[in-house]
Amino acid sequence: MADPKFPPAPDWDLETLLVHGGSLRSQYGELSEAMFLTQSFVYESAEQAERRFKDEEAGFIYSRFSNPTVAMFEERVRLLEGAEAARATATGMAAVTAALLSYLKAGDHVVAARALFGSCRYVIEDLCPRFGIATTLIDGRDLAAWKAAMKPNTKMVFFESPANPTLELVDIQAVSDIAHAGGALVVVDNVFATPLLQKPLKHGADIVVYSATKHMDGQGRCLGGVVLCKDAFLKDYLGVFLRQTGPAISPFNAWVMLKSLETLPLRVKAQCESAAAIADHLALQAGVGAVLYPLRPDFAQAALAKRQMSGGGQIVTFTLNGGKEAAFRLLNALKLIKISNNLGDAKSLITHPATTTHQRLKPEARAELGLSDGMLRLSVGLESARDLVADLDAGLRAARG
Ligand SMILES: *Cc1c(COP(=O)(O)O)cnc(C)c1O
Repeated sequence: MADPKFPPAPDWDLETLLVHGGSLRSQYGELSEAMFLTQSFVYESAEQAERRFKDEEAGFIYSRFSNPTVAMFEERVRLLEGAEAARATATGMAAVTAALLSYLKAGDHVVAARALFGSCRYVIEDLCPRFGIATTLIDGRDLAAWKAAMKPNTKMVFFESPANPTLELVDIQAVSDIAHAGGALVVVDNVFATPLLQKPLKHGADIVVYSATKHMDGQGRCLGGVVLCKDAFLKDYLGVFLRQTGPAISPFNAWVMLKSLETLPLRVKAQCESAAAIADHLALQAGVGAVLYPLRPDFAQAALAKRQMSGGGQIVTFTLNGGKEAAFRLLNALKLIKISNNLGDAKSLITHPATTTHQRLKPEARAELGLSDGMLRLSVGLESARDLVADLDAGLRAARG
């Protein structure tokens, strides 16, 4: 795959890399990274075309393979994650599916934590078995369960941490050690933590996937995904899979995400501060049961959160004692916070998982995940925390009836 060869990035801090890293400047000397809306590229000569196809010369061929704007986005995320290689995809689900199916084949086995984003659970539970890939879903918090689920043909393990919506964590280092002892690769969906608050590769993971739709865009516009991996995995598995099956991201979407990365640290920091304050406020209110937030001292896995995360994230999950009726009364009383199942946005968004993102699951499966009918998942945005608290307080008054 004839890609541009980016020079090694200077020894800059993350904030600097996210503004300047991976920029390719055209002959016009534009300041802002350019959007290359082109399907294909032309060659100076027949010889040059031959060299590009033989991978003897860096450069672009066709935007299903690579594109300058997409390459800039990939390089910036690669620097952010500290990975050997990065590939962007059309959506987060395309990233997850490509990471798994580029490597796995009939006869292989996958172990996954059962607390998964709904579509990830479909890929593991329904799609993989259709192609002869056996899967085992377990409680991701239970290291003995990971160990017990490993089989001689286990080729990958897959999990999110924190997981949606209960924010339960998986010990990335411990599970990576178990997986590697059995010869399996570790794939982590790191969306909830963002690349700023948790570095799975440093804790032993082999592959990290993102829905760039969430914090990387951060303003609710475009869909996108990223897979981060080793050069060898890209060369032997992922690269050819993406090139031939075609879940390519649009250069327009990649440009939006590329520019958004410039402000990612500022946004994530502000959202984490507000989320922590809102979690503490909610925990003191009448009618509120459990408040789940990874860095609160009462969080069941607070010690693990401290060990592998540098911030609590911007999701706060809380339970109302009045069940679904109280949850719906709160939602319908909100004026500022929007009812939406997205997350990581500048706008604060709230959702009732039991009747939306997780309604596909049987009640027993929801109970297994600790997902109750009174549970709400709040994605804290960039509004002032004072306005958000006032809106939630009005919602809580309505919920109490
Ligand atoms: C949103 C999300 C995805 C899927 O991303 P899309 O861009 O919507 O395809 C996967 N995993 C997690 C944890 C997510 O939050």
